[in-house]
Amino acid sequence: MSDVSVPPIDRHDDPTPDRLTVPPTGSSDVDSAALRINGERLTRRLSELGEVGGLEGGGCARLALTDADRDGRDLVITWMTELGLDLITDTVGNVTATLAGRENLAPVMMGSHIDTVQTGGIYDGNLGVLAGLEVIETVMRSGFVPRRPMAVAFFTDEEGARFAPDMLGSLVYVGAMSAEEAHDIVSIDGARLGDELERIGYLGSSPCPGLVPHAFIELHIEQGPVLEREGRDIGVVTGVQGISWQRLVITGQSAHAGTTPMELRHDPAYVASEIAVFVRRLAEELGSPQVGTVGTFDLHPNLINVVPASVTMTVDLRNTNEETLKQAEARLVKFCDEVMESEGVTIEATSLARFEPVDFHPEVIDRVEDEAKGQGLSTRRMPSGAGHDAQMLARVSRAGMIFVPSVEGISHNINEFTKASDNENGANVLLQVVLDLAEEKP
Ligand SMILES: [Zn+2]
Repeated sequence: MSDVSVPPIDRHDDPTPDRLTVPPTGSSDVDSAALRINGERLTRRLSELGEVGGLEGGGCARLALTDADRDGRDLVITWMTELGLDLITDTVGNVTATLAGRENLAPVMMGSHIDTVQTGGIYDGNLGVLAGLEVIETVMRSGFVPRRPMAVAFFTDEEGARFAPDMLGSLVYVGAMSAEEAHDIVSIDGARLGDELERIGYLGSSPCPGLVPHAFIELHIEQGPVLEREGRDIGVVTGVQGISWQRLVITGQSAHAGTTPMELRHDPAYVASEIAVFVRRLAEELGSPQVGTVGTFDLHPNLINVVPASVTMTVDLRNTNEETLKQAEARLVKFCDEVMESEGVTIEATSLARFEPVDFHPEVIDRVEDEAKGQGLSTRRMPSGAGHDAQMLARVSRAGMIFVPSVEGISHNINEFTKASDNENGANVLLQVVLDLAEEKP
């Protein structure tokens, strides 16, 4: 980290060169249902933003509130400013750009994030922001003025890779955490969030919680293999899985591998393996969409001829149904109790994260599906396996998401890739859903 202090910039007073001039009226003679986004412009912006913090071999690294994140933000803001949009930066660094509508009503909001993980791809998050910008530019260039304002936002620290928890900016935006509390969060590299916001010039003055939108729509890459495997164009996202993360520390009795009879052992490695097998069977028994993963397994002392003294392991359980997720958790607890008893070990469980599943709004889900089908695209209803800003916005507003296929399901990786034609499809669905919502009366 650099300790050079950069004076905060007031984004509201930015000069606005090359503002796009659009006719203020003339909506009546534009067939908005025939509008299509400019795919080339979207692709160009995705690769230009991808070069900021670009990595050898592709992908990029723009951890939240680093210099690279600032440079990415500055570039997106340049584009927003060129369109003459109204810019607001709030007290946790979320940036919202708004195009005025015919009436001064709550806006239809699009958006996502532009921070990435350390070895991230150029589509995760960035697509939702740049497609939102593309939707607004398409509407402006057509001369059509929607009834409601249209807004596009990028939220701070969605990845949570530098400051925990993830989806932090949108969490604060909806008022589920105060900006003051967020400012005091310390990063993995020891920096305070509030100080970093100020250092990169993005400690805004607009208060949180922010304006409640009329509806919120996020376009995102799937980050999984389902759409590609099934040859579908568009994922109609019904909600976000609930997540339960636990750390289990199993303590037994360290012993000599040769001299300790089997019946006298209290072997935590054996118990940990039993639990790993149980988690797999549990997920299979409860059936899809239940998933269960043992992702870490740490033996001490981890030697070939020693029965370990302890094992630390993690269990990740996810389901779109809260009741089933609770059932999975309860059955894991029961199994641990039984094996603790029979093997003479102790098991200490700590919850590392727990989010209830989120359902997106049925009207928004239907509109995304109808619009995609109307454009001749194949669709599939699906939950999201990963967390997204839209799940936070769903706490205060009608919200939904559109997925486009990820090649080989690869994400959080420099090889993350989505075809330009798929990005364009997703952005065109986004455009028409937003135009539709933007005509709704109060
Ligand atoms: Zn994302």
